Formats: sequence, structure tokens, C-alpha cells
Amino acid sequence: TDAHLSAIEKARLLNAFVLETPDQARSMAREADAKLAKGEAGPLAGIPLGIKDLFATKGVRTTACSKILGNFVPTYESTVTSQLWRDGAVMLGKLNNDEFAMGSANETSCFGPVGNPWRREGNNTTLVPGGSSGGSASAVAALLCMGATATDTGGSIRQPAAFTATVGIKPTYGRCSRWGIVAFASSLDQAGPIARSVRDSAMLLRSMAGHDPKDTTSVDIAVPDYEAAIGKSVKGMKIGIPKEYRLDGMPAEIEKLWSEGAAWLKAAGAELVEVSLPHTKYALPAYYIVAPAEASSNLARYDGVRYGLREQGKSITELYENTRASGFGAEVRRRVMIGTYVLSAGYYDAYYLRAQKVRTLIKKDFEDCFAKGVDAILTPATPSAAFGIGEKGGADPVEMYLNDIFTVTVNMAGLPGIAVPSGKDAQGLPLGLQLIGRPFDEETLFSLGEVIE
Ligand code: GLN
Repeated sequence: TDAHLSAIEKARLLNAFVLETPDQARSMAREADAKLAKGEAGPLAGIPLGIKDLFATKGVRTTACSKILGNFVPTYESTVTSQLWRDGAVMLGKLNNDEFAMGSANETSCFGPVGNPWRREGNNTTLVPGGSSGGSASAVAALLCMGATATDTGGSIRQPAAFTATVGIKPTYGRCSRWGIVAFASSLDQAGPIARSVRDSAMLLRSMAGHDPKDTTSVDIAVPDYEAAIGKSVKGMKIGIPKEYRLDGMPAEIEKLWSEGAAWLKAAGAELVEVSLPHTKYALPAYYIVAPAEASSNLARYDGVRYGLREQGKSITELYENTRASGFGAEVRRRVMIGTYVLSAGYYDAYYLRAQKVRTLIKKDFEDCFAKGVDAILTPATPSAAFGIGEKGGADPVEMYLNDIFTVTVNMAGLPGIAVPSGKDAQGLPLGLQLIGRPFDEETLFSLGEVIE
């Protein structure tokens, strides 16, 4: 814990942590020591972790990196983090993220952008770590913590993992409790770990996962010993390669990485088959209707009365308007407006309802594929390596949204997906591959993930 706390101090230029909690960390570490001495230690005893600022932490400021939450201090702990503390883990502090987890570059945070430790020019880090869990990925990659919590609504665990050579798994929808996590799009949001290796992510997920009566969408299925899946033979497993993911104009190095990953799995005894997921091209537009629709509803609670920031107004309506206008950043306001529009009378059928129908078709594509005996699907995690801070999405938000092209389908279908660091581009920047699994079969992803790591 001390070593990590001093590493955090030396790496402040990354802006990965928005709050450091050294006193709490040391006292949690001492407690873990005492339990170790008594032989009562949990599986994560003394493991120092960073917590995405979307997870409510009791008595510790939680902001979702939005001005609107101000200095909100929760009186409760999220289920996922409380399970990590139950197992002996230590909290080093809260990690930066895109405001309300909306973004793919960690540039929408009210605390400013996060740097990617893979490139430094003088006193600046010039590359994005991905988003929205950019602080989590950057902190793990820079060895500031041994692992971090993260959330994934459309790719926010897997894309930053791919940009920083860390491992990120988004479990099946319902595997982890969403209770105490700031909501973005409730039917898509899932928590998961970002870690240094496939094995570490298996250990962390085991603690984070599990049924919770406080989240009605959490599923009551036993959590397996994920670590046992590592090193298990993948011989005879059928791996699908979806032809719709071969995009026009995809960089040659991504294409090459994808073939290499397939070759490694083949060498380990897996069988490769071409599969078709015909509705893939509709996933991104449908996601950018469903996610903002749910966000506009979830974010209605930030009215200047119940939480954090409050601006004054001559009437209650003006108080709401002034608070929301100054508390939400530009991307969040855009999502609220899109969401409100697609849910409004007259447009609901044309946009929201249609997007939900597309979602059903996307889910069915995967079901058909798994029904043919496919155990997992291999795709690139991102269409490129990490890009520069301020380089994308300035004039055209869709340019940023295109980053999620390979990841959003997985959330739309509720499936588990893992991003594993598997290679580098010509400039030496990390690239990741994604494996998509059957519902509640994260174990297969860990077994296969270790082969391509
Ligand atoms: N980049 C996507 C978005 O902005 C996904 C974010 C996420 O998974 N939280 O909506």
C-alpha cells in the first residue's frame, strides 16, 4: 500500500486519481495485516485498488466526475466495492472517468483529461487512455494500483484496457450488482475490473460478482472460481470470426493482430469458424438512441435539490434550469437532449421503439451463432490504437462514437466480453483483442484470454 501511495504521488501528471485516500488506505491495510496474522484473511487481503468515481463509497466523495454532484459524500457503499472490502482489498482513492461515464477518451470529466502512460512528451502525456474508465486503465497501466473497478455501458472497460495494455472484462449483464453505482443507461451498465493480467481480473471479478437482492436485474447464479479457468485447455473449442467486423478501411495492423490472435487460438487446439452477425452495422446507431434515452431518464434526478450543486433561481423551475445548465458538461447535455427527443410523443415509435427492435435482432444474431456450437467470438477490441488528447470528436461527436463500433454490440446483447492486450502498432502503442462469450460463461473468456495475452 505504501509503495502504491508513493507511486500515485509521483504520477500526478496523469490525473488518474481525482481523490487520494491515503489514511483510509493505511488503516485498511493494517486491518488486512491483522486478519492475516489471525489466519482470517480474505482472498484479496492487502491488495491495493483504485475505485472509479462512479461507485458510491461511504464517507468518501463520489462525483461521477460531474460538477453537478459537487462534493456529494454518500452515506452508503456500493455492493461491488463492499464485496471487495469484505475480501480484504484496500482503497487507494477514487479514479477519474468521463462525466457520468459518457465518452470514449476520458475528456469529458470535470476534473480534466487523463493521460495514457504509454507516451510522455516532456512534462505532458499526450495520448488519451480511452474512456470512460480512463482513470482506471491509466492507473493500472502505470502501476499505481494492482487493479481497479470500472463500468462498461458501451465499451468503457474494454476500450481503455485495449488502449493501455491492461485486461478489462465486462461480465454478463446481471452478474454484478449495479446497486450504489451512478446510473448511466441501466439496461446496459455493468461493473467489472481492469487489471494487469487475465489472472488478476479473474480474482477481482470473483469478489465483485454475485447476486444482490438490492438490484432486481442482478441474477441469482453461483459465481464460479474464475481463477480455476486459467490454464484450462481450450482444445476443441469453437471460435467464431464474424465477417461483419471486417470494416472497410480498417488499419492493416488491426487486421494483422486479429489473424495472429486466431492463429494463437488455433495453435492451442481451438477450431476457427467464420460466423455472421448480420445486424452488426445497426448496433452503433441503435446504441446511441437507447443509451441517451435511458440517460435522460436517469439524470432527471439531478435537480439541484437532492444532491450536490445548487444554483439559485427566482422559481423552483428556474433553480432546476440554472443548476442543470451549469452542472452538466456539453456531452451530458447533448445526451439528455437526444434522449428526451427520442422518447417524446411522436418520435418514440420512430426512434426508441425501433432501436429496441434492432437490439432484439442483435441479440438474436449472437444466439444463433452460439446455437451452432460456437463457444466464443474473437474480434478486435478497438478500430485503432490510442489517439491524441483533443484529436477526436471536437466538431463531430460521431467521430468519437465510432470508437465503440466493436464493443457496443456486446452490451446491447447483455453478453460478457473481455479485452486482452495482444500486440502493438507500428509506433509501439498497445492493441487489444476482444473475446465475446455466452451469457454467464465468463470462465471460457478467461481460459481463452490467457492464450492470447
Ligand atoms: N463510449 C460510450 C459512450 O460514450 C460508452 C461509454 C461507457 O461504456 N460508459 O456512451
